[in-house]
Amino acid sequence: MKRRDMLSILTAGGAGMAGASSGAKPVWAAKESDAIKITDVKVVLTAPERIRLVVVKVETSEPGLYGWGCATFTQRPLTVKTAVEEYLRPFLIGKNPDNIEDIWQSCFVSSYWRNGPVLNNAISGVDMALWDIKGKRAGMPVYQLLGGKCRFAADLYAHASGRDFQELEDRIRRWMERGYRHVRAQASVPGYSAYGAGSAQKEADKRLPEGTSVFEPSAYVQLVPQMFEYLRDKLGYEVKLLHDTHERISNSQAVSLVKRLEPYDLFFLEDPLPPEQVDHFRRIREQCSTPLAMGELFNNAHEWIDLVSERLIDYMRVHLSQIGGLTPARKLAAFCEIFGVKTAWHGPGDLSPFGQAANIALDLACYNFGVQEQHIFNDAANEVFPGCLKIENGYMFANEAPGWGIECNEELAKKYPFTDKASFDMFWGNVRRPDGTIVRP
Ligand code: MG
Repeated sequence: MKRRDMLSILTAGGAGMAGASSGAKPVWAAKESDAIKITDVKVVLTAPERIRLVVVKVETSEPGLYGWGCATFTQRPLTVKTAVEEYLRPFLIGKNPDNIEDIWQSCFVSSYWRNGPVLNNAISGVDMALWDIKGKRAGMPVYQLLGGKCRFAADLYAHASGRDFQELEDRIRRWMERGYRHVRAQASVPGYSAYGAGSAQKEADKRLPEGTSVFEPSAYVQLVPQMFEYLRDKLGYEVKLLHDTHERISNSQAVSLVKRLEPYDLFFLEDPLPPEQVDHFRRIREQCSTPLAMGELFNNAHEWIDLVSERLIDYMRVHLSQIGGLTPARKLAAFCEIFGVKTAWHGPGDLSPFGQAANIALDLACYNFGVQEQHIFNDAANEVFPGCLKIENGYMFANEAPGWGIECNEELAKKYPFTDKASFDMFWGNVRRPDGTIVRP
């Protein structure tokens, strides 16, 4: 290389580098005062599917450059709105949106007390919006910023619930006909009616508080092995079946249930224990080989350390907006990879399309991807959020547009204000055993 060419590389950032041209500033001379700035942070509340979503918009000093993120905590959305608008917004205005890691770290300690829901959700909305901005500045979808694809799409699992085994079988077959390879199977306990994740709700005793849903763990634990025996008999072993316990059973019931499910070759059993009882995973692990998934109720990355490093679980579940966004999630995924634990990011309806896009970016870029929970957004959600990710043959594909490739139409979002307040706010506080004992999810 000629001396003149060497000099041009040293002074102009080098041929091939973005923005390099004669007269361009050397890259190390870029001053913080030249950087773009965050000019506003806004919250949009909307419920196009009657599920309350909280999304955050970060605006910058560069005209037309902004990003969107998911801060949804559907049970306590207004507290998150307050955390963003009253605390993060003034802290962030004037900061350089390029410095995602620094912004995450400074927001994380800004309240001194940390690692909890609400504040983590607020940080998540900002964090994902900054990754959206970063992608738009780079002209790349976010998965490219994480290292690019190691698979063409994310293999999904669909939800099937039935009032009885026959109805459940029919619904699983419908997903299989649509090309799905993984289905989560839930059935009602006889004598109870179905709700939510296909678990049990019985008419409440008149002595129980009004609005009570009744769940009896022992009836449920008896039912689930019968359900899988039926399903394997009818469907064979090719379709990968999952099941969500949703916590709610005792430690010894969890050990017994997981052992009894072993012959039915589950893809995974989710959340057999509540977060407070994770030490019992050691007992489960010692006694059987059913793959285990855990973590959607965890709030911070440290809660997975023992479960992952002792290889007590097979799939790490995370609600991205609950632990602070993409920044901590990608580190957690890398931690899991070292220990052979796979990812199964939480992907229900109480995650906005931006959160779902963040899940998929990780699914494509992380080697240790396991499976992705799906949610199919309805027509109203697709209208409010143009660019929602596409599903084909049981796979979800990332957008190839820069950032998340998804927009939020703020005017249309107003057409879907929050409703059904009480049922969402307090649902989990109204599930009781027949004698009135509260059931802990
Ligand atoms: Mg779950």
